[in-house]
Amino acid sequence: MKKFLIAGNWKMNKLASEALDFCKELAAQNLTNAKDVAVLVPFTDLKETKEGLAGSGIGFGAQNVHFEESGAFTGEVSVPMLKEIGVDYCVVGHSERREYFAETDETVNKKLIALLNAGITPILCVGESLEVREQGGEQTFVAGQILADFAGIPASEAAKIVVAYEPIWAIGTGKTATPEQAEEMCAFIRGVLSGNYDNATGDSILILYGGSMKPSNAKELLEKPDINGGLIGGASLKIDDFTAIANAAAELG
Ligand code: PEP
Repeated sequence: MKKFLIAGNWKMNKLASEALDFCKELAAQNLTNAKDVAVLVPFTDLKETKEGLAGSGIGFGAQNVHFEESGAFTGEVSVPMLKEIGVDYCVVGHSERREYFAETDETVNKKLIALLNAGITPILCVGESLEVREQGGEQTFVAGQILADFAGIPASEAAKIVVAYEPIWAIGTGKTATPEQAEEMCAFIRGVLSGNYDNATGDSILILYGGSMKPSNAKELLEKPDINGGLIGGASLKIDDFTAIANAAAELG
């Protein structure tokens, strides 16, 4: 049976008080697949998110982390800080961080290793720009990101990383990749991982699609064989939309 993860990326949205209300309401939905659902929230919302979701089985996490344990890194948050709060997940390498905050494959790789060492599941984002796709270079580009980001990580640890394929041209634009485009790239990523490690590792890695996923297109994306779920931005901010996407996965699971 295919495994799923439906993860909501709130980005820089929701006050802590709003997070508490939202998470209590989400918990009250009694999702049948709660353990396959998570919300990824601003640092300031982590405590209230945990409180609101308590006992629901729904996971939660952060959207970024620093790779050093502690030190003179003003404004940053470390893995031990996230660990103490009890997060399940942390997003790494989102295209917005790569574009606006100078995230590189090198820092992404260090963050993945730091999170894995602490037992926190990384959700690694990869994906090409419109320019790269229009030139037909999307597979080369994404394979390059995958190989650089997984560098030096052994198969046993690599299997714990969740990969999210997020074509930049589909994020927050309302322009979803077609299910065929999404499946083609997710299958390609699985092939790159299988080639870099082995088939068992490639098969066990969860590969999500992200980019304007919403209730109206979730089912056709989620039913593709190499798509194990979604990383959902805009639609994760509304209880009804997020719940509908989680339910679509539950029906396929
Ligand atoms: C995202 O930010 O990860 C994302 C997929 O956003 P949206 O769903 O709004 O396109």
